[in-house]
Amino acid sequence: MSFTVHGLAVSQGIAIGHAHLVSHALLEVAHFTVAPKHVEAEVTRLRSAVAKVKSELAGLKAASGSAPSEVDAFLGMHIMFLEDPMLVDAAEALILTRRANAEWALVQQMELLVEQFEAIEDAYLRERKADVVQVVERVVKVLLGHPGHLPPKRKDGLGTIVVAHDLSPTDTIGFKDHAVAGFITDVGGPTGHTAIVARSLSIPAVVALRHIRHVVKDDELVIIDGIRGVVIVDPDERVLEEYRLRKAAVELERSKLKRLKSTRAATLDGEEVQILANIELPPDAIQAKGVEADGVGLFRTEFLFMSRDSWPDEDEQFEAYKAVVKTMAGKPVTVRTLDVGADKELEGATRSEDNPALGLRAIRYCLAEPKMFLTQLRALLRASHFGRMKILIPMLASSHEIDQTLVLLEKAKAQLRERKIKFDESVPVGGMIEVPAAALCLGAFTRRLQFLSIGTNDLIQYTLAIDRGNEAVAHLYNPLHPAVLRLIHQTIQAGAKAGVDVSVCGEMAGDPDCARLLIGMGLRQFSMHPAQILEVKQAILRADAADLTPKVQRLLKLDDPDRVREAVEKL
Ligand code: PEP
Ligand code: MG
Repeated sequence: MSFTVHGLAVSQGIAIGHAHLVSHALLEVAHFTVAPKHVEAEVTRLRSAVAKVKSELAGLKAASGSAPSEVDAFLGMHIMFLEDPMLVDAAEALILTRRANAEWALVQQMELLVEQFEAIEDAYLRERKADVVQVVERVVKVLLGHPGHLPPKRKDGLGTIVVAHDLSPTDTIGFKDHAVAGFITDVGGPTGHTAIVARSLSIPAVVALRHIRHVVKDDELVIIDGIRGVVIVDPDERVLEEYRLRKAAVELERSKLKRLKSTRAATLDGEEVQILANIELPPDAIQAKGVEADGVGLFRTEFLFMSRDSWPDEDEQFEAYKAVVKTMAGKPVTVRTLDVGADKELEGATRSEDNPALGLRAIRYCLAEPKMFLTQLRALLRASHFGRMKILIPMLASSHEIDQTLVLLEKAKAQLRERKIKFDESVPVGGMIEVPAAALCLGAFTRRLQFLSIGTNDLIQYTLAIDRGNEAVAHLYNPLHPAVLRLIHQTIQAGAKAGVDVSVCGEMAGDPDCARLLIGMGLRQFSMHPAQILEVKQAILRADAADLTPKVQRLLKLDDPDRVREAVEKL
């Protein structure tokens, strides 16, 4: 019988295939006592399963090549868990002392670790419990003889739809080598690592379907609509035909988009637009180059500092910045100085603040830690010698913060001159407009800085007083609120008047539905995740700036957010 289930669309596209139910190995673990003479062999069984998984993970790590850098990071993290004595050594002790079977001993230790993770306050670290569970599940599958092999392509030419309670990012990477058309899971969210991998591999996926693994039968025909977040099980011929047509249309659209790679972005009336990439770690620059981005508009350097015990020193930072500048081969690379604090906490940070988003974050943190800031500035300046670098300062609110930063930059330059190290003497310095105070006092910024970049993610948070990370107020986070749009417009116009380049590097720039609005406001520089570039380029190619400008002027006079939304939809 056909039925439809709604979940969260995390990776776009349409997939049609046969269900393959992935068992939840951890739920199947039995407990039994091993005969004394077999205890040693049980320990060996555990050790060799762990070694097998470690070598599989190392193999995936080596093969992850073009996959996002986050993928490399979770594989590394999973390997690290397998080396943690709290997990494997402790499970071995349980086998020896209690003559327990290996899989049960390992799951006991996993549960202990999960409990410890659950008690951690830091949300990012707390979430790592899912990684422990995933890696243990992999070892248990080996112990139980579940090789996790996926069926080959069926005779009818359809692929496999993986149906699981949850999937790890490593499982998802493995789909690359099989005829996996898509996946659906009971749990998960759009920003989970598994969803990130799915998007990078362009595998349609819907998650948070609650009990999908219990209601779908093995081999049943399934349609995943990764655009609407819908799963249709056992569809009738009419629905199947409709989805075949939609799938073909989506695929055609995707392949057409690829052809836009080397097309210059310009509006119908000839206004040139620059489309830049946002990156988190140096290997992301390869993806940016792959879609022929006009440069890097935002390199979030804090990712080099996170998930580690000590800060990277000057040489390590220099190598990372130089790698990006060299990859982009002469195209501009805008590197943002450390933007930590709020949801991006450094390892071992002892200071806890009541309102971290309003606390010592970004430039405030850097000015409070001048030694660390000078180290980063020297590393950036050294890398500027190898290409076209621009330095971007986050979360500025007042002119004195710019002045203090420029003094430190001069100091870093003097230190390098003393060391006879070359750098770009006139490296441009820009500021992020993310705080309403900055957007309302732009003169102080345009007089001191060479360029501006609007961080809409924070500008929305601070204008509407909505914590970006708080689910309870997420429905109030509205990029199209008239107050937000007026601040963005004001900034773009003030930049144009002062001859200072303005870009948008928040999520709004990567939303194709906002492209016409931003073009109508006068924006000519967009920066976004490389995966969004071609779709936004297409929207820009279809926009007419001269036609949009007066329409957007009228829309900016509206005070009611709902009417603004309607007007944006009509653009
Ligand atoms: C922003 O705030 O829009 C931005 C680009 O910075 P981040 O998302 O890193 O805070
Ligand atoms: Mg920001």
